[in-house]
Amino acid sequence: MKRFYFQKIKWCALFAVLIFASALIVSSQVVFAADSPKYVFLFIGDGMGLPQKMAAEKYIGKKLVMNSLSAHGVTTTNAADRFITGSAAAATAIATGMKTNIGFIGMDSNQKPLKSIAQIAKEKGMKAGIVTSVSIDHATPAAFYANVPSRSQYYDIAVALAKSGFDYFGGGGMKDPANKRENSLNFQGDALELAKKNGYRVVTKKQEFLALKPSKEKILAYNEWLQDGGALSYALDMREQDISLAEFTAKGIELLDNPKGFFMMVEGGKIDWACHANDGAASIHDTLAFDEAVKHAYDFYKAHPKKTLIVVTGDHETGGMALGFAGTRYESNFKVLNNQSVSFQRFGDEILAEFKKKESNKVFDAIKPLITKYFGLKFDGGTQDSMVLQSYEIDRLKSAFERSMAGDTEEKSYDPEVYLLYGGYDPLSITLTHILNQKAGMAWTSYKHTAVPIATSAAGLQAEAFNGYYDNTDIALKIMSIMGSGDKPVYEKQSQNQTAMVQGR
Ligand SMILES: [Zn+2]
Repeated sequence: MKRFYFQKIKWCALFAVLIFASALIVSSQVVFAADSPKYVFLFIGDGMGLPQKMAAEKYIGKKLVMNSLSAHGVTTTNAADRFITGSAAAATAIATGMKTNIGFIGMDSNQKPLKSIAQIAKEKGMKAGIVTSVSIDHATPAAFYANVPSRSQYYDIAVALAKSGFDYFGGGGMKDPANKRENSLNFQGDALELAKKNGYRVVTKKQEFLALKPSKEKILAYNEWLQDGGALSYALDMREQDISLAEFTAKGIELLDNPKGFFMMVEGGKIDWACHANDGAASIHDTLAFDEAVKHAYDFYKAHPKKTLIVVTGDHETGGMALGFAGTRYESNFKVLNNQSVSFQRFGDEILAEFKKKESNKVFDAIKPLITKYFGLKFDGGTQDSMVLQSYEIDRLKSAFERSMAGDTEEKSYDPEVYLLYGGYDPLSITLTHILNQKAGMAWTSYKHTAVPIATSAAGLQAEAFNGYYDNTDIALKIMSIMGSGDKPVYEKQSQNQTAMVQGR
């Protein structure tokens, strides 16, 4: 009896040891699973809400790469001091995990500097790269390497870039490297020269760019010709000699790959600009160009599935794009957008500017062939052809043409009625995209951002953390946490501040 009792205890002990051992195995498995990714990609579609993504998908008739990732979440975007956010506050939230005020870059609401995911990656010994289709000192990219209370401190941002130590910058140029706008009180010489002094090789020619090979050199690359505000061309206007967002991303992967891994942020910045101007076709083509960039990361992830994390998000929606229009009821016909061959920007800067030079072009009839050529809108034809303009649409174009020729957009745009019609943009260009978009069954409610939540998608190591409904600050906190415990102090401190701030409001 006693012996049997002991035997039972022995069995129990053995069983306990087994449980303990299996627990160890489980926990070591957890440790293994929580291993931080060697390669981290963060894609930000500026102004890219669900309508922008759905419009692009509907236009090409197939699923976007970013929509094919394994995890999807819904993300709230508000700033600390405004329901409708701006790119600076949103980028700071996504880069640092902290809510901040409109216009602030890499600083909390009390102007305390914050550390970004890219800076944390550098501290871990990883390489860091920043790519964007707008100027490299614009709000979204700047939030990853600069700390300034105003996004318009372009000179200070350029100096921060030169001193960042990041390994790769690609995309648009700098807006004010020489402080010509004099919005910095701390002039330290030309920022581009400072970058060169700090080891950056500046590359602006496509052939030279494509030939770049991994080396110890840091790279600052942008297109020789930039379209507007130091940005790459709209995808719709891209020329053979331009480097595309996808090419900047692919080269970034090639140059940054190293035994310690890398962090790369890629922004599709002109989706936002297209949507501010209510240009549906330009928005779609830039969303597709952004998705093409995501595809490069996705292919890289497929080659390194256990070492890579890809997160794709937007900073806010822009324009209040609606995939429906009162005038077309339930109909959608996105094919009509094929008729637009240039962005509103190129139409205004090049075609209309050239047209205006000729005195005899002051009459509406003179512009008609250009409208048909660049937007496919016709002035004659049967009612069954949806591209034939209705008389009320021709009236809208006529008054926009007159205002455009009078060149009175600036001061008149403060008039609420005029603002509602043209949003401060060239009246003819914006009326053309409005009419064409409406024919597609697409409408706009704003020339600014909106507060609708946006989608965040992820693939790779611990991607499942991005399922659910969460705030834009959580994107940074989740990435920091996934990137490893070494960053815990920053992560916890910034997240405590975050909690305090949310409770305080
Ligand atoms: Zn934005």
